[in-house]
Amino acid sequence: MRKPFVAANWKMHKTVAEAVDFASAFTPLVHTVTDVDIVVAPSFLALPALVESLAEHKIQVAAQNVSAEPQGAFTGEISLGMLQASGVQLAIIGHSERRQLFGETDGGVNAKTRATLDAGLTPIVCVGETLDEREAEHTFDVLNRQIDEGLSGLTPAQVTELVVAYEPVWAIGTGKVATPDQADEAHRHLRGQLASTFGQTAATACRIIYGGSVKPANAAELMGRADVDGALVGGASLDPTSFAEIVTASRPGDR
Ligand code: PEP
Repeated sequence: MRKPFVAANWKMHKTVAEAVDFASAFTPLVHTVTDVDIVVAPSFLALPALVESLAEHKIQVAAQNVSAEPQGAFTGEISLGMLQASGVQLAIIGHSERRQLFGETDGGVNAKTRATLDAGLTPIVCVGETLDEREAEHTFDVLNRQIDEGLSGLTPAQVTELVVAYEPVWAIGTGKVATPDQADEAHRHLRGQLASTFGQTAATACRIIYGGSVKPANAAELMGRADVDGALVGGASLDPTSFAEIVTASRPGDR
């Protein structure tokens, strides 16, 4: 049984003080939840403060991006060593906003994913089709390419460790959520693709989470699908009560 995994992606929201306020309001709401892995990805600036306020509650902290380079003349970048030294345990890689707005490629996703695993952090690797790609019936081709190239060269054991986030681009921040059937179909496809490349054992162990306008009102139905192992939540994670409701809806007993 895969443990549900629910992550907040705050994007470019919240100052350090606002992040700490969130932690104070959020932790009492989920203090009995031990059956869901809970992760918060704030801005880089708020990472140390959140590590400090969330660690005792067993809530992990993720970076929203990372450099594949260990150090050097890369202005504006943050290395895995810096994240590690700050107690950060995970990194979101290849979010569609990084791909669309900052030119990230599948090759870049691959380099970051490998470097993140080598450093002992957990990558949350984002994949997903645009609306045009879905309407042209290219969804599965796009997912296959993103998995094949993004995870190229990984061992089955490494695939077991990472988290794949299926985020249809047309559902991110738009209020348009994939139907549970659409999410389930894509997740089953992704798991099949992982199985054909890395073997059934790795594919069965790998958590595949859904992202795209997840809200308290739709979380339980999405999480109720067998291949949906959790959620990556943008807008609805900014409010402690609404994020706590999504976490609760993802608990195994509640699904
Ligand atoms: C995201 O940023 O990964 C995301 C899914 O955003 P939202 O929940 O706002 O659609």
